Amino acid sequence: MRRPILAANWKMQKTTGEAAEFAARFVPLVKDADAVDIVVAPPFTALDRLGQALAGSNVALAAQNVNAEESGAFTGEISPGMLVDLDCRYAIVGHSERRTLYGESDDDVARKAAALFAAGLTPIVCIGESLEEREADRTFEVVERQIDGSLAGLRAESTAELVLAYEPIWAIGTGRTATPEIAQEVHAFVRDRLRRRFGAAADAIRIQYGGSVKPDNVDALMSQPDIDGALVGGASLDPEAFSRIVHFQQGTS
Ligand code: PEP
Repeated sequence: MRRPILAANWKMQKTTGEAAEFAARFVPLVKDADAVDIVVAPPFTALDRLGQALAGSNVALAAQNVNAEESGAFTGEISPGMLVDLDCRYAIVGHSERRTLYGESDDDVARKAAALFAAGLTPIVCIGESLEEREADRTFEVVERQIDGSLAGLRAESTAELVLAYEPIWAIGTGRTATPEIAQEVHAFVRDRLRRRFGAAADAIRIQYGGSVKPDNVDALMSQPDIDGALVGGASLDPEAFSRIVHFQQGTS
């Protein structure tokens, strides 16, 4: 049984005060959710304050990005060790916005994921095709290339900890969610690819779906056999909406 993992990606939203306010409302709402992992990824500037507000709760802290180097002349960058220092447990890497707006390659993502594992952090590695690629029937080819490239060098002992997020770019922030069937089809393909690479250990890897997940579609998505969680942007900014997502009902598609 894979433990579901519901993660919030706030992107470039919320000040430190707004993050603390969110925590004050959200933590009591989810304190009963003991069968899932709950993660919130604020902007770097809110990590410290949010981390303090979440201390002792069942909500873990994540970063939205990281540099693969540990220290040095890398102006504007944040290292894995700095995230450990702030009690982060996870970091998102290879989000499509980083890939498309900031030119991150599979190779960059693989280096970041390896650096996170080396620091004792868990990477949430994002993959997913564009609308153009889907319409050209290239979804599986693109996803396969991203898996192979972004997980290059992943050591067998780290496999169980890994979290992958399948996020079709055409569904991110658009309100256009993949149907549960479309999402499951790609998740099953991803699982199969992971099995060919890591054998039975692939069955422990959690694969999140991301792309306009909302309170009203999470149940159907989470009822699919290979969807083990959600990476949520817009709907995670509101404590009540994200709490409803955390409290998804399985088997009600
Ligand atoms: C995301 O940022 O990863 C995301 C899936 O955003 P949204 O839920 O807003 O589509």
